[in-house]
Amino acid sequence: MSNFSRRRFLLTAGASAAGSILLKGCLGNPPSATNAAPEAVQTPVNLSPEQKPETTKAQLGYIAIVEAAPLIIAKEKGFFAKYGMTDVEVAKQANWGSARDNVEIGSAGGGIDGGQWQMPMPYQISEGLITKGNQKIPMYILAQLNTHGNGIAIANKHLGKGLGLKLDGKKSFFDQLKSSGGKFKAAYTFPQANQEFWIRYWVAAGGIDPDAEIELLTVPAAQTVANMKTGTMDAFSTGDPWPYRIVADKIGFMAALTAEMWKYHPEEYLAMRGDWVDANPKAAKAILKGIMEAQQWCDNFDNRAELAKILSGRDYFNVPESVLLDPFMGKYNMGERTIDDKTMAALYWKDEKGSVSYPYKSHDLWFLTESVRWGFLPPDTLDKAQEMIDKVNREDLWKEAAKEAGIPDADIPTSTSRGIEEFFDGIKFDPENPKAYLDSLKIKKVKA
Ligand code: CA
Repeated sequence: MSNFSRRRFLLTAGASAAGSILLKGCLGNPPSATNAAPEAVQTPVNLSPEQKPETTKAQLGYIAIVEAAPLIIAKEKGFFAKYGMTDVEVAKQANWGSARDNVEIGSAGGGIDGGQWQMPMPYQISEGLITKGNQKIPMYILAQLNTHGNGIAIANKHLGKGLGLKLDGKKSFFDQLKSSGGKFKAAYTFPQANQEFWIRYWVAAGGIDPDAEIELLTVPAAQTVANMKTGTMDAFSTGDPWPYRIVADKIGFMAALTAEMWKYHPEEYLAMRGDWVDANPKAAKAILKGIMEAQQWCDNFDNRAELAKILSGRDYFNVPESVLLDPFMGKYNMGERTIDDKTMAALYWKDEKGSVSYPYKSHDLWFLTESVRWGFLPPDTLDKAQEMIDKVNREDLWKEAAKEAGIPDADIPTSTSRGIEEFFDGIKFDPENPKAYLDSLKIKKVKA
């Protein structure tokens, strides 16, 4: 492909398609909207009339990052079909904005019924904060998809300047850039959500005010990589396989993994339109059972080579298998150092702190609290947070689905709070007292 036609392609293609072109030369194919029939057929369970889904169909969106693994594996391995959901389609979304647009119209309008989300997007959609005309579209969170698998990538021109997990003592580095007219530019692929929170937390923990001392911006992933190559982007926050590609292609290095910032942190979620779940509660639970079985499959490290193979395929991420396999085994070449630890890999079902799949309400509260911290949601959000969470978070459905699927009691959390959380800088978040967390933070937009 000539430079000219590549440029034209970039102007017309969706972000993720353009990303695979950039990273793979001319081998990238546009994403397919639907996938071939499952390659593995599971024995369907004998569904009692109480468990028989109201519909066999659902349209679930995903973004081509490792968070999507449970959706893709449930489809490919026949785990949705096993529970009666024989016609689930998993549809690649060009970017987060497209996923939002597609869930607004729903499958009836050619969009999606739900799928993979960064937090707090299900809340932002439910509250009408990011929808057209601020229409409130109630969403239900059904499960967490994963923990870990994300990181902060830095452009190679900053190699050797001591930009790592901790930025203590690095304020002068950011000040120098600022005074020379070019603030440190950090990007993410959707504003006021998870990826932005990671960048903000990382710099603020090092005493750098993200609103004053760096420039934060929303950029499609492919453009971020291109800008990093040409030196106009300093950092970006995203999920595997992007961080790994950046190091492998010598475009940049990894300052930190999110697994280092908050071990076993909440990451991305399965959420669906509330009207769809209300109309099809048994189908929603059948989807959940398929996801839970897929998450257990993904967490068996003996399956990870096959997981990398499936995700890397043309129908899905369309990347070389090798860029997925090492991170899936907990092996990260960070550029300036390496990590080799399976507990740092993306995990899907269980971790040392409990269930990964279970959507702890205490984690939703952290995302809302962090939104208040940075002025994305008004301070009085905390007064009504419990009410908001009780409407959106359907951990009750998760529990029912887990029991119906025969998940052992030991794997079903008894509390909807995971308790006090601790970050890499020593800051603690007590879900019983989110105001104390805000008070303890030196850098924030909200007035304590
Ligand atoms: Ca992510």
